[in-house]
Amino acid sequence: MKRNRVDIAVVGAGIVGMAQATLLAVRHPQLRIAVLEAATEQPAAPEDHYDPRVVALTRASQQLLEEVGAWDHIVAARACPYTDMRVWDAEGTGSVSFSCRDVHQPNLGHIVENTVVSAALRAQLDTLPNVSLIAGFRLDTWWRDCGHWHLQSRPAQESVAEDLNQQGEIVETRLLIGADGARSRVRDLLRIRCKDTDYDQVALVCVARSAESHRHTAWQCFLRSGPLAFLPLSGLGDEHHCAVVWSADRELARELLMLDDTAFALNLEKAFEGRLGAIESVGERFSFPLRGRHAEAYFGPGAVLVGDAAHTIHPLAGQGVNLGLQDVRILGEEIQRALKRGLEPFDESVLARYQRRRRGDNEATLRAMSAFKSLFGAGELHWRWLRNTGLSMVDASPLLKKRIILRAMAA
Ligand SMILES: Cc1cc2nc3c(=O)[nH]c(=O)nc-3n(C[C@H](O)[C@H](O)[C@H](O)COP(=O)(O)OP(=O)(O)OC[C@H]3O[C@@H](n4cnc5c(N)ncnc54)[C@H](O)[C@@H]3O)c2cc1C
Repeated sequence: MKRNRVDIAVVGAGIVGMAQATLLAVRHPQLRIAVLEAATEQPAAPEDHYDPRVVALTRASQQLLEEVGAWDHIVAARACPYTDMRVWDAEGTGSVSFSCRDVHQPNLGHIVENTVVSAALRAQLDTLPNVSLIAGFRLDTWWRDCGHWHLQSRPAQESVAEDLNQQGEIVETRLLIGADGARSRVRDLLRIRCKDTDYDQVALVCVARSAESHRHTAWQCFLRSGPLAFLPLSGLGDEHHCAVVWSADRELARELLMLDDTAFALNLEKAFEGRLGAIESVGERFSFPLRGRHAEAYFGPGAVLVGDAAHTIHPLAGQGVNLGLQDVRILGEEIQRALKRGLEPFDESVLARYQRRRRGDNEATLRAMSAFKSLFGAGELHWRWLRNTGLSMVDASPLLKKRIILRAMAA
């Protein structure tokens, strides 16, 4: 059995885990870091078509990706800056539009395919001598002695053939960072409970081609059955492709999934009120059940949670990865501060400060998303009046809009 001793082990090579490992490795060349990833292969960005899973990266996320050296890779691959955002209520007259011109910025953010971000982080991670990615390592069991975590990728009773990581490697570390997504094994092993909200919705994602250009605008329409977003894509020819995220009640989602492409495109065009003209074609559809989760604590002894392992939120404001990257930034700051003061990164006070700085903010965002979802899902007249009046009031107040934009860009 091979043993690998490192200073920090990050479990999960999603966007958040790789960003965390890269940030720590760039800032602290003396630290040895391992990233343990269950999958054996990293998804690569397709060259001739768009990946339907995208993220709307804010300025704050861009800055972090610049610091770790991944942003240039992202721009060189493909990223679509969006300059405007339109939000409206399908059941009323309320609407609001935001523009980067209101805050004198070149854009409000970028829409980037998940695989493009992952590939960029991976390329950067591979250039750093003090970090290594161990693929095929599905964390399953662990034990701790004298402050050291011993991480194992397979239970003792399973045969070696079932083990993805054939060598049965044990990784030993003093700080464990759980970036292993919504169904985090690290969170379970730490026995951290989660507040769980079933949104009773499924997100349907696909790429659609519209007759008209997307005009570098992110579009979001609130339907009674859930929000429908069209997020602009560019980099493969014209500007007529959008990533569609349609969050719908389960029953409707099931019906939409069963339609053939032509019928689905017609339904999509109708729900979107034809704002970009006819929907000429749609790509393969994928579906994700939507749940909100929030870990009751973000750390245990020598271990800490970041990204979806700590919180998952409704995609209606496209904030999941952005919140995760803010976790990465704050944990990075706390570790840097600790090292400057001669403290160990796994010291309880370091992890507690990270939790204090992140959990309240994330809780507020989770609550806001739940409130939005309820408000826009309500059919009663008074709720419809309230949301339409609210949208129109925001639209009529340049100062309020400016504040909202600046806050969203910093998230
Ligand atoms: C439909 C939809 C649309 C979305 N749109 C947006 C958007 O526009 N903007 C935005 O910011 N966010 C969006 N999100 C949310 C965003 O995708 C997630 O917040 C983000 O992917 C979480 O990243 P992560 O790295 O924390 O977790 P993940 O991406 O889940 O990565 C976790 C990694 O850990 C690995 N892993 C799991 N278990 C183990 C184990 N035991 N051992 C080793 N490795 C393990 C997994 O293989 C995976 O690679 C959306 C989500 C959905 C469902």
